[in-house]
Amino acid sequence: MDDFVKELIDLMWEVGIFTETVASLGMENIQTKDDFSPVTVADYGAQIMVSHWLNMHFKDEPLIAEESSKTLPEENQEGFIDTLISVLKPFLGNLNRSKIIEYLELNCSETKEKSYWVLDPLDGTKGFLRGNQYAISLGHVNRGVVDIGVLVCPRLDLPSLSEKGKTSPKGCLFIAGKKKGAWVKHYNPSADLIPIHVSECKEPPKAQLLRSYESKHTNLEKTALFLSKMGIHSSIPVDSQVKYGLLACGEGEIILRFPPTDNPTYREKVWDHAGGVIILEEAGGKVTDILGNPFQYNGKSLLNNSVGVFASNGYLHDIGIQVLQEIMEISQEKEG
Ligand code: AMP
Ligand code: MG
Repeated sequence: MDDFVKELIDLMWEVGIFTETVASLGMENIQTKDDFSPVTVADYGAQIMVSHWLNMHFKDEPLIAEESSKTLPEENQEGFIDTLISVLKPFLGNLNRSKIIEYLELNCSETKEKSYWVLDPLDGTKGFLRGNQYAISLGHVNRGVVDIGVLVCPRLDLPSLSEKGKTSPKGCLFIAGKKKGAWVKHYNPSADLIPIHVSECKEPPKAQLLRSYESKHTNLEKTALFLSKMGIHSSIPVDSQVKYGLLACGEGEIILRFPPTDNPTYREKVWDHAGGVIILEEAGGKVTDILGNPFQYNGKSLLNNSVGVFASNGYLHDIGIQVLQEIMEISQEKEG
């Protein structure tokens, strides 16, 4: 493993330890953003840790990340900033409010640079707060292609990948490089990187669907129609890009998200996908939108040209897109 990969793994590992520490201390200090989604001290802290590292090693490459200094509570509302400073202290030493703002301002909403980083510091904040799954997702884009992805899943247990006879602690990290492969590593500093592959399931009725835990993030009616047309019986709710990690190591065959029922023009955010997509693709899977078009990484925060998400183990992609086309035709007929 080269030094860069080792450093990247160590950094992301540390961020996962940070977010779990915040949760175990009960110091999340939840705020609500303008879109009514929750944001916590852990979201900001994780972004500051990654920004700090990128600023040391990749000063010239911009970062597109979910959190912004603009959404930080203005005054020290309910001790938010003081809590942020105190939980970050064991990881980054003493920071003050202006340093915190400085690191968060390294983030931009779009870039014209060819090479840039994409970060969701805490994907699935609702899952994080519920005690369920969440992920920290970092991707690197070069000339429109994601070429590095790291996905930390601090609460994911993968007993099927443990060494025989050994139990592994909860939590794992996925990493992939373009045309290099994808690996998983358990939350144990001395654990090896294990190569991962998608499942070889080719029969839709034997497939498992992984879907959003939050029903408001999709269209349940269309999802039910997809399941019945494919003959799929198993649909598992999982928060965040953990779904990409699970699919990449054969724990499920399909991820599907329609634009939500109450917000049909919703467009996906790049940080909700970049890191996870390359892990799935390098493990043999495929990711497109629900119309079968690949995502376009064009330096923007929104995947503007895409509608929803359809990811699979590859074998079930064409049949899935065919069924989705039928569903879209039915809904157009209904609406028209
Ligand atoms: P998931 O658990 O797959 O639903 O993914 C969680 C992520 O989905 C969050 O980080 C949100 O950015 C994003 N998301 C997807 N759909 C919506 C929606 N309708 N409203 C708000 N956020 C959404
Ligand atoms: Mg997210």
